[in-house]
Amino acid sequence: MKPLHSVSDLVAAGLMTPDAGKAVETVAERYAVALTPYLRDTLAGRGADDPLYAQYVPSPQEAHTTPEEREDPIGDVARSPVKGIVHRYPDRVLLKPLHACAVYCRFCFRREMVGPGGEALSNEEMDAALAYIRDHEAIWEVVVTGGDPLLLSPRRLRGIAQALSTMPHVGVLRLHSRIPAADPGRVTGELIEALTAPGLATWMAVHINHADELTPEVRAALARLVEAGIPLLGQTVLLKGINDNPAALEALFRGLVRNRVKPYYLHHPDLAAGTSHFRNSLAEGQALVKGLRGRVSGVCQPTYVLDIPGGHGKTPAAAAWIAEDGEGTYRVEDFTGTTHRYRG
Ligand SMILES: *Cc1c(COP(=O)(O)O)cnc(C)c1O
Ligand code: SF4
Repeated sequence: MKPLHSVSDLVAAGLMTPDAGKAVETVAERYAVALTPYLRDTLAGRGADDPLYAQYVPSPQEAHTTPEEREDPIGDVARSPVKGIVHRYPDRVLLKPLHACAVYCRFCFRREMVGPGGEALSNEEMDAALAYIRDHEAIWEVVVTGGDPLLLSPRRLRGIAQALSTMPHVGVLRLHSRIPAADPGRVTGELIEALTAPGLATWMAVHINHADELTPEVRAALARLVEAGIPLLGQTVLLKGINDNPAALEALFRGLVRNRVKPYYLHHPDLAAGTSHFRNSLAEGQALVKGLRGRVSGVCQPTYVLDIPGGHGKTPAAAAWIAEDGEGTYRVEDFTGTTHRYRG
């Protein structure tokens, strides 16, 4: 079965009517479209109001951009010293070996940069990126992202892991991927084996936004990673109409923990072009996150974060639970909303 790469492929697969396909033609010229055979089967019979379908199948709403939206919403370009590297915090860098993905999420924060033309770094460019890491001894953690790094061959992934393991200052290789949820069959023993190397701790952050994504195939892929000794973190985007309600977030974070994935970040959506229909207000996000405290355990709580536009990095976005009210006295709120006085 072949991957789907265009609106006409989606129409041919019965995932859109020809009329619905016509309505997103211009959107699909601007923002890439793709689905794996696994997702094609998973989405069969679902429609625009379904939380999985809406993440992947283009909608006419993407044609609408707002004045605050940007081409490079988190300022990656401004912080790139060599091709493939983004260095924003002293102790960690992003390494972006390719700009292609197995699927193109409709709310993607890098949607103006990712796509099927987003070729991989050449061998020379990869060598230069690795040399940058080797030369900067403050770099302790290398976050391999993209695009989706798990689209690389095991041979190329092994090359990255091996190279990093020869750099004494690099302690952690962290891969960020959508593949476990988008193409779980790709997470084979050979691929997993390529991600680890002596002297290096390999972690993976998996991008999952809804409990329905945790199908038996996805759960099995997550188990293979954990059982190979790779701790898993969950990355979720808060998405209007998809997971922006307490029950959906509770089910997702419980589902992740149940599958040995620690919820790491809940991202407030970035100001990517044509994504305003996916964005809640920060106040709505804060209220949802506050409500989670009483619903699920600490293990199930991610940090709600905002990536500050312009390349200033991420900042915790949750509302405060504690407010100073003068002279060393604080008003502390508990999970039921009752406030208490604290002096200390
Ligand atoms: C998000 C990000 C990181 C990783 O940050 P953590 O908060 O450690 O997950 C590193 N570099 C850049 C440029 C980033 O945007
Ligand atoms: S997998 Fe990540 S980078 Fe690729 S389209 Fe989805 S959000 Fe964007």
